[in-house]
Amino acid sequence: MENGTKPATPHIAMLATPGMGHLIPMAELAKLLVTKHGFTATLMTFASTASKTQQAFLSSLPSSISALSLPAVSLSDLPPDSEIETLMSVEAVRLIPDITSALKELKTRHTVVGFVADLFGADTFDAAHDAGLRPYLFFPTNLLTLSLLLHLPEIDVNLTCDFKELEEPVKLPGCVPLPGTEILAPLQDQSKECYKWMVHHGKKYCEAEAILVNSFDEIEPDAAKILRQHEPGRPPVYPIGPLIQTGSTVDKAGGSECLDWLDKQPANSVLYVSFGSGGTLTKEQMDELAYGLESSGQRFLWVVRSPSNAGDGSSNYYDAESKKDPFTFLPEGFRERTKERGMVVSSWVPQIKVLAHETTGGYVCHCGWNSTLETVVHGVPIIAWPLFAEQKQNAVMLSEGAGIALRLERRGDGVVEREEIERKVRALMEGEEGKRVRRKVAELKETAAEWMKEGGAACQSLSEVVAMWKKGG
Ligand code: UDP
Ligand code: UDP
Repeated sequence: MENGTKPATPHIAMLATPGMGHLIPMAELAKLLVTKHGFTATLMTFASTASKTQQAFLSSLPSSISALSLPAVSLSDLPPDSEIETLMSVEAVRLIPDITSALKELKTRHTVVGFVADLFGADTFDAAHDAGLRPYLFFPTNLLTLSLLLHLPEIDVNLTCDFKELEEPVKLPGCVPLPGTEILAPLQDQSKECYKWMVHHGKKYCEAEAILVNSFDEIEPDAAKILRQHEPGRPPVYPIGPLIQTGSTVDKAGGSECLDWLDKQPANSVLYVSFGSGGTLTKEQMDELAYGLESSGQRFLWVVRSPSNAGDGSSNYYDAESKKDPFTFLPEGFRERTKERGMVVSSWVPQIKVLAHETTGGYVCHCGWNSTLETVVHGVPIIAWPLFAEQKQNAVMLSEGAGIALRLERRGDGVVEREEIERKVRALMEGEEGKRVRRKVAELKETAAEWMKEGGAACQSLSEVVAMWKKGG
């Protein structure tokens, strides 16, 4: 920067909206740009999520990625029952002036080649424009969800009832037909603010110069074929995944004793049971799961959380960890009866290490996209147990599309009964159906490795975007 000149090193400005599930894949993208393409990066986050976990995670990143925490904005004027998607969207809009200033300031010190925001941050494209930068979208979930959001504005115009009341499944080009009940949770009620925000985001996505997606063609091949084609009015789509967390993970204290236990089990014999970073079950559902696991006779590692109706506020998405000991909610005598072949862990395990372990042979999974990619990368077949966000539609895609998951039948009131759990657990761990999904996920694991290796298709996709950035955005 001598004589007032800026370093020629290309610099990318990024914004992750709240949730480690958004921040981690975006940070992985930043790491690739830094290590493989000679970039430096600034990663912006909202003040509302400046948690200790997030701080620790950001400070573990390479020094060529600078973290920038945006100023706090007040959301106290919003109704107290506002949905998480609404809160994130409003916060993004209110931060536009701050992001504009931050981008202008970055431009005085760096050769900034673009601005990348994620799925709830498309309104901040306006900040990029104001600062004279081109905006890009990073989509941390799959092509199915991207396709839904890109089509949502036109679907919305013709939608005369809520999705759940539709008699026919929703058919998106190249995607598995989606029963209305399984569609993205914030779209389930048209009268809610979050529904309107999602329609708005779908429109706004078209202002991106390009869309980078954390998925890869083989897991959703027909959707990939269609979205990779040029379509006027829609930005080009680049699948650059599967990006999963690498390097030192910020693991919570505890939870790692399960790895010693896994070491002592036979290969491929343990069913891992977990509902992501925030998922909880009701007490009734927890009981059904416990009895189902017990009567299946299979080995299991279950990450137990206090039930969502524990009455201590533990159902809050951002505070999934109950203050009470979750084991007190397990059925009487359950731990004693299953101690020879089951392990329960409270709240958190180092999941990637569990999935990578050779004794893990199956996963009862909430179908969050990060967990899904982690299980694919490690070749572990799934029993799909979706809870919220886009998890239900992911479950449809993983079972009926990719063929790597078995689906659980629910009772009319939504509860999965113990007999169904026992049946599907046995089917996955020792049945013919289990062999089929196991073979399929093993194939996908191979392809994912090919895809991500030096010179693989994911690298090529990213190189195309990088070339665009280096040419001047
Ligand atoms: N995470 C972690 N250690 C922790 C808490 C979270 O490594 O103590 C990481 C974890 O690897 C995962 C993500 O954070 O990828 C999920 O955290 P969070 O609960 O914030 O996710 P959200 O559901 O809000 O996206
Ligand atoms: N995770 C973990 N340990 C746990 C639960 C979750 O490390 O006990 C991590 C998991 O590896 C994944 C993330 O948390 O990276 C969850 O992200 P996902 O997108 O699957 O779902 P979310 O929790 O955000 O709904």
